[in-house]
Amino acid sequence: MSSPDSLRLIDSHAHIQGPEFAADLNGVIDRAHAVGVEKILVVGGTGELSSNDAAVAIANSFTGLFATVGMHPHDAKDVSEQDFERLEHLAADPKVVAVGETGLDFYYDHSPRDLQMKVFTRFIHMARDTNLPLIVHDRDAHREIAELLRSESGTNLRGVIHCFTGDYQAARIFLDLGFYLSFSGIVTFKNAEALREVVRGMPLDRMLVETDSPYLAPVPHRGKRNEPAFVRLVAEAIAQVKGVGVDEVAEVTSLNARLLFGI
Ligand SMILES: [Zn+2]
Ligand SMILES: [Zn+2]
Repeated sequence: MSSPDSLRLIDSHAHIQGPEFAADLNGVIDRAHAVGVEKILVVGGTGELSSNDAAVAIANSFTGLFATVGMHPHDAKDVSEQDFERLEHLAADPKVVAVGETGLDFYYDHSPRDLQMKVFTRFIHMARDTNLPLIVHDRDAHREIAELLRSESGTNLRGVIHCFTGDYQAARIFLDLGFYLSFSGIVTFKNAEALREVVRGMPLDRMLVETDSPYLAPVPHRGKRNEPAFVRLVAEAIAQVKGVGVDEVAEVTSLNARLLFGI
């Protein structure tokens, strides 16, 4: 299926392997295709460790779906050595295109910070050793994340800061480290002018788009279940902010995602 105006988009971050989508996954994927979303990264590691197995399983059931494996910083306190081994094993699946999500969340602090840093460091090493890009979750931890990423400079480490919500200064630091920044439905929120300012100031060729489904549905679906089809609303918001066509945003962000993830 192709969209009427043949836009091509990639949702670089969606958790559609969960129970929220169990009843209508086929419909969700059809609706995504209908608006031009041709590829979706199904991101593991949010909630149970088994979300990773589920991500790999659905990526292997649909064309255009890919998986990533990791553990959210919220759950750093629960990751065992055995879990790392299981994820390393899963990462070898041909449909796995990144390590993550991983990172630091110093806003919620659901796991102690020292443990978050330790687990994040392990995943950085997994990305480096498997030659897969890294999908980083950053909430109020720009400085610590940048420091850990910088300690790997000179290696093959590359990746994306997903659902970026920092200021321009933080954006600059990650861009200088060679990372991409991914934007979610937050760019459509009324109170997100500071984030739109970051979008306005940074180059499109370092930008990805995502939904983070089922969370963070863009306006006018805010507060409801998010789904990959809505990534088009994110691309439209970015196009408006940057004063370019949505076709250009779709083309460049898709190229960026294809290059980063090798898809
Ligand atoms: Zn996240
Ligand atoms: Zn996520």
